[in-house]
Amino acid sequence: MSKSLQAIRGMNDILPEQTPLWRYFEGTVARLLDNYGYRQIRMPIVEFTELFKRSIGEVTDIVEKEMYTFDDRNGDSLTLRPEGTAACVRAVLEHGITGGGQVQKLWYIGPMFRHERPQKGRYRQFHQIGLEVFNLEGPDIDAELIVMTWRLWGELGLRDAVKLELNSLGTSESRGRYREALVEFLSAHLDKLDEDSQRRLKTNPLRVLDTKNAETQAVLVDAPKMADYLDDESRAHFEGLKARLDAVGIPYVINPKLVRGLDYYSKTVFEWVTDKLGAQGTVCAGGRYDGLVEQMGGKPTPGVGFAMGIERLVLMLEALDKVPEELSRQVDVYLCAFGEAAELAALALSERIRDQLPNLRLQINAGAGSFKSQFKKADKSGALYALILGDDELAQQVVGFKPLRGQGEQQSIAWDALAAHLATCVVQG
Ligand code: ATP
Ligand code: MG
Repeated sequence: MSKSLQAIRGMNDILPEQTPLWRYFEGTVARLLDNYGYRQIRMPIVEFTELFKRSIGEVTDIVEKEMYTFDDRNGDSLTLRPEGTAACVRAVLEHGITGGGQVQKLWYIGPMFRHERPQKGRYRQFHQIGLEVFNLEGPDIDAELIVMTWRLWGELGLRDAVKLELNSLGTSESRGRYREALVEFLSAHLDKLDEDSQRRLKTNPLRVLDTKNAETQAVLVDAPKMADYLDDESRAHFEGLKARLDAVGIPYVINPKLVRGLDYYSKTVFEWVTDKLGAQGTVCAGGRYDGLVEQMGGKPTPGVGFAMGIERLVLMLEALDKVPEELSRQVDVYLCAFGEAAELAALALSERIRDQLPNLRLQINAGAGSFKSQFKKADKSGALYALILGDDELAQQVVGFKPLRGQGEQQSIAWDALAAHLATCVVQG
């Protein structure tokens, strides 16, 4: 195929073999979010570039080198969203739904775009489920976000494979004092820092803590620790969060180097990480951003949220063999019909059955075909049962009912009794 007719590197089709697992994952998360009282919001995929510069921060990896930015036909600079928080904040401000201290517990799902080097678990179009809570400032809601993800890992069978890392970045005042101490310390070891870290020291010094460079990491061992700079308020907030996680029995490790890539975090930051995916180990990440709404032109509004990477979680379910058995079967019953009169009757009968059993996955044969060929298709569909309607059955107003998996003889069932019979032998989701 010529190059121009291929998908863009790092942007993947999700094929029919994969979509059942995606829908299982997305459905499980959506149900949990409903049960905890979160409501879905849907934002556009494209926003003004300025939105991301203002919220994510000019000197972050995302804004510096990962955004898909282009000029609209009328000269506006637009960007494919690299994450969801910025647009969500814009939306709540634009519609005034966080005004007067109104609490909003919102979630969203959809594609995000970042120009990164594609590899396993890292793509240029990827998908997130994210969540944002506005106007709740206590550690109780931070805890709820984490408790809810813990329940999700439990439902998916992933609890043993993930680890919770926690840190507190403090209020902006305590972070400011820490930043000063860190800059002073790192400046005294400037020659031992890698080039990226030297640059970050000037633009975004906390990000130096995030370095992958071994020599810089060695310097950081003796660096000042954020925990020693937390003011009383931040400390109490962090203790409140930990007490709640302890109460539920959720294990965690404090990672003093966890700073997250974005500028806007304060107090709580957390990541769920795994060692099952190689280098792309973070499956869910988030934190508190009490200053962001104000920074974007709103009234001071506390906020906290997270986003999880769907591709990485789907990869994990596959790698750990946690794909539910029932996903492999998409058809319950396959209806074969032979001859034109039988086809008409089969169509009418199948619609009656669908009326009575709305969750039955009933596939009706299309394209006619011999007995042998229709049976082959029935078998290949994965159906548990084949229904057979030929001239004889038509005359007697019955169908042949044949189990396709395992034992059981073919039997004859009257049309009127068919729905009741199917209800007893097909477990409906
Ligand atoms: P990383 O350190 O892996 O680059 P990040 O800090 O840039 O992650 P966030 O912006 O916090 O990621 O996004 C939240 C989650 O979205 C990540 O934890 C990850 O699961 C997923 N994610 C981020 N970037 C990608 C990507 N390019 N491809 C696939 N998933 C991604
Ligand atoms: Mg990244």
